[in-house]
Parts: sequence; C-alpha cells; structure tokens
Amino acid sequence: MKCRKCKEKAIIKLYEHNLPLCKEHFLEFVEGRVQKAITDFGMVRKKERVLVVISGGKDSLTLAFLLRKLGYKISLLHIDLGIDGYSEISRKFCEEFAHLYQLPLQVISIKKEWGKGIKELARETYKSPCSLCGLVKRYYFNKFAYENGFSCVATGHNLDDMVSALMANLLGWRISYIAKQTPVLPEEGKLKKRIKPLVYLTEREIAAYAFLQRIPFSRQDCPYAYTASFLKIKHLLNQLEVSSPGTKYSFYLGFLKNKQLFGEGKVTLRECALCGFPTVTEICSFCKTFRKEEVRNYAGES
Ligand code: SF4
Ligand SMILES: [Zn+2]
Ligand SMILES: [Zn+2]
Repeated sequence: MKCRKCKEKAIIKLYEHNLPLCKEHFLEFVEGRVQKAITDFGMVRKKERVLVVISGGKDSLTLAFLLRKLGYKISLLHIDLGIDGYSEISRKFCEEFAHLYQLPLQVISIKKEWGKGIKELARETYKSPCSLCGLVKRYYFNKFAYENGFSCVATGHNLDDMVSALMANLLGWRISYIAKQTPVLPEEGKLKKRIKPLVYLTEREIAAYAFLQRIPFSRQDCPYAYTASFLKIKHLLNQLEVSSPGTKYSFYLGFLKNKQLFGEGKVTLRECALCGFPTVTEICSFCKTFRKEEVRNYAGES
C-alpha cells in the first residue's frame, strides 16, 4: 500500500476517505483537519487565550499537543475527581505532559474542595457518578475560564464522541440536546464559548497520531466508564463503520447541514441567585447539589 500523496510506503489507510498515507502525510493530514475545524467553525483566533481541559487520556492530551503545535495560546486545566486508584494516575499524566511541553497547568481537586471524591459525593447526593462528574466538570471549567479571562474552553471530543452523543439523543428524542451537538457552543453572559477542535477526527486517527508523536497518555479507563450508555452506541456505530466506511462522518456532516431542524438549542439563561453563574432556574444545579444549606436559607428568606 502506497501513500496517495508521495508514493512512499503507507503506514495507515483512512477508510472513510479511502486514503492511504505515509507517516509524514498522515501527521500533516491530522494537523490540517484540526486547523480546518477551527477555521470552518470560527472557533478561535491565534491571539486569544484558550483553556484546554485535560483528563490525562489520549484525546485531550493530543488536542493540547496539536493546538500548541499549530501556534495557539493555551493553558491546561485538570479536574482531579478523587477516584481512588484512578485519579492519581490521570493527574500524574497531566502533570508530566505540562512539564514535558512547558505549558501552564491548573489542577482543581474535588477532594480538596468538598472533602470527598466523586464516588462518595454521588452516593450522598443520590446521583450517578457520571452525572455528578459531568455537572462538576462543566461548572469548574466554565468558572475557571470566566474568572481567568480565557476566550474559550476547548475539549477533546472527537468525531466518534459527537456522533454517539448525537445518536443517543436522537434515540431519546431529546431535541434541545440534539441541537447542542455542534462543534462550537457560543458564549452567553458568564457562559464561556466551548469548542471541539477534534470534531473532524476519529478516535482511531487520534490514537495513531498520539502514538506517532510519542505523546505519553494514560491508557486506563475510569471505573465508571462501563455505566456510560453512549459507549454501547459507540460500539454499534463502529460495527456499522466497518461495513460502510464513512458512515459516521457523513452522518455528522448531514447533521451540521440540517441542524436548524432541531432549533438553536437556545434557552433563556439567568444568573444563579447563589453563585451568579448561568442557569435556567433560579438556583443552578451545582448549588442545588453542593450548597444545600445555603439553598434552604435562601428559600426561607425569599
Ligand atoms: S466515566 Fe463517568 S465518572 Fe468516569 S470520567 Fe467519565 S463521566 Fe466521569
Ligand atoms: Zn506520503
Ligand atoms: Zn449556583
């Protein structure tokens, strides 16, 4: 198999594009796809400051590597979830990455903030670890970006993530969530812009890029990953992709073309009466979950 661009030996075939590439042209392809996503969706300009959220896994660390390589001004943020036997390793990879590539890193430790890890907090608040984790991460990313003057928050969601989230929401006809599966969620008041520059790349392409660039990343799975329902959908979509290469890509592009069918996914936001961050209700979900006593006092006063 020969590289389509230079006729040297190909190291990978991108089935969805029917494109065999050598190492040099594959690296160039990946970098080009990220730059194309940033340009196509007007994600960020080079003079703006981007907060890259990293978990220690391949997607977020490859995103940080790529944005740095493409000349963007980035800082890193890691949320230490306090999951014993997992979070210590994730954090270590984030710290090593920041050190290796000389990037500023901030760590927010859930145990330090709330005295307990996600597992214990989930039990106390009657939520699943994943729904609490999502709530906590979204709240802290946004708060940190807002308070530290970043223009946007970048996350490592790839094409597979976007397509499986889209499919999961379609299966449940959650229209407002469907509308939100776009590569950019615009800034609104204290809600910072969120961008997904890896949206044109599959998990396989990112893993191959990380391997070729020798990016050190954690290979462990979160102990709660098996509970995430979208993983099952991801698996089914992968099977479909094997028999019909390019399905995921064309499905997602089709969504982008027709997304107006699902409305703008816009809701009227107001400031939370306790913390001041955006919410659709009087008190945000984060405060309702973590500041129960203050919520009771507030309800008593008003
Ligand atoms: S699997 Fe669940 S708890 Fe673990 S990192 Fe993902 S969302 Fe958080
Ligand atoms: Zn080549
Ligand atoms: Zn609040």
